[in-house]
Amino acid sequence: MRAVLKNFINGHWEGGVTTATSENPSDLSAPVADYARADGRQAEAAVEAAREAFPNWSRSMPQRRADVLDSVGAELLARRDELGSLLAREEGKTLPEAVGEVARAGQIFRFFAGEALRIPGEKLACVRPDIEVDVTREPLGVVAVIAPWNFPFAHPASKIAPALAFGNTVVFKPAELVAACGWALADILARAGLPAGVFNLVNGSGRQVGRVLAEHPGVDAITFTGSQATGRHVLQQAAARGAKVQLETGGRNPLVVLADADLDRAVECALQGAFHSTGQRCTASRRLIVEAGVHEAFVQKLRQRMRQLQVGHAEERGTDIGPVASRALLDGNLSYLDVARAQGAEHVCGGELLQRRTRGHFMAPALFLAAVGQRALRDEAFGPIAMVLRAADYEQALALANESPDGPCAGICTSSLKHATHFRRHARAGTVMANLPTAGVDDPVPFGGRKASAFGSREQGRHASEFFTTMKTAYLCA
Ligand code: NAP
Repeated sequence: MRAVLKNFINGHWEGGVTTATSENPSDLSAPVADYARADGRQAEAAVEAAREAFPNWSRSMPQRRADVLDSVGAELLARRDELGSLLAREEGKTLPEAVGEVARAGQIFRFFAGEALRIPGEKLACVRPDIEVDVTREPLGVVAVIAPWNFPFAHPASKIAPALAFGNTVVFKPAELVAACGWALADILARAGLPAGVFNLVNGSGRQVGRVLAEHPGVDAITFTGSQATGRHVLQQAAARGAKVQLETGGRNPLVVLADADLDRAVECALQGAFHSTGQRCTASRRLIVEAGVHEAFVQKLRQRMRQLQVGHAEERGTDIGPVASRALLDGNLSYLDVARAQGAEHVCGGELLQRRTRGHFMAPALFLAAVGQRALRDEAFGPIAMVLRAADYEQALALANESPDGPCAGICTSSLKHATHFRRHARAGTVMANLPTAGVDDPVPFGGRKASAFGSREQGRHASEFFTTMKTAYLCA
């Protein structure tokens, strides 16, 4: 019998109210783990433990916090192959990508170990004599970390590490789809020498556990990554009681391809941006906006390259694209394809379910030609599906790229410095890429979207202190 993965509350491992099993989307006959689902009462207990632990932890020596984060980072790096294999099994990311993600999580913890030692603040000139004025930053209190399933190590790392570095305490709720990855990260934190209550893990449903964290008056800040619908709900709950919120949600990222682009390179950018990680990235290129002069050639080359992609078991060598992460997501992709067809989008290739011995959720990456105004362009398909749009010229391509009500990322492929520079200035997205895939960001670099896809200050890098601390201004007169 498999051991049941427990919740970690106030320094103790605890069972839950029910037990659930997480699946392997590459192989439905090989479940990954059994885990204990907490209920709302346990989520409340975790918040209370974190509140109690906050005063001491917020006053702890920065070197102590740095040492803890450093040891977590070192363990993640040392166990990247083993934990990468767990990630590949539970989420379906290909093994090289999964190992890379665990290593990235390790680097994030190490980066914030350094940040714990850097006390942000500044001294200001005062117009009155004998008065010193300074601004310093202080921790917020209890931070709820509500994470999505698509980066089960890297996303929580970029939230938990800065929260702890700056002296906050944490209640972590992973997405249920990746409960075992969430547990594995918590297990490392639980052994890293943190006092009881500083870090807590509650596995359970978003509607129950997540909701309690969003509504609880003892939670001072919520850092959330996930869908726009859930993000809006979390924001409303938090705003009602004045808690600080950081949201990163999804988007229909455009990749513009101009006629002067290196076409082979543009096709590789589209291929990686749209289909790698099975298209399950918030920065994935959903809309490929191609200038008329190269539209046919681009579609033809992209279709050829898509045919070469190996869709298969996440842990098998040679797999380029793993399975869709769950049956519900696969159904969502298929109904998106139905809408696209019903709206008259022209099918180029892909979209069929692939039968494999292991009965995983395998789907061939899909490409459609769409016309401006079709509904499929307004919805976010969170899978390996891309729509190609034709633009008469650069100006129309930019206008189409900016049409979307959300904006994590926008990309352009061009050999014209003039257009690349103009796009950088005028694309309404939080991150802009030139001659690169829209998906794929570096960690010490601030990350965040615009418009409906983000709220609050940015994640990652040095700017993380803006969210995870609050500013205090002091006037001191002897
Ligand atoms: P989701 O359904 O919104 O879930 C995100 C998290 O919220 C999960 O932990 C979920 O728990 C929890 N949750 C669900 N209902 C809740 C509620 N009422 N109150 C509080 N928490 C609740 O999103 P997802 O399907 O996991 O993630 C995919 C989405 O995330 C996509 O739209 C993608 O574009 C976006 N995304 C954005 C970024 C970015 O950085 N911008 C990065 C990655 C993903 P359970 O799942 O356990 O129920």
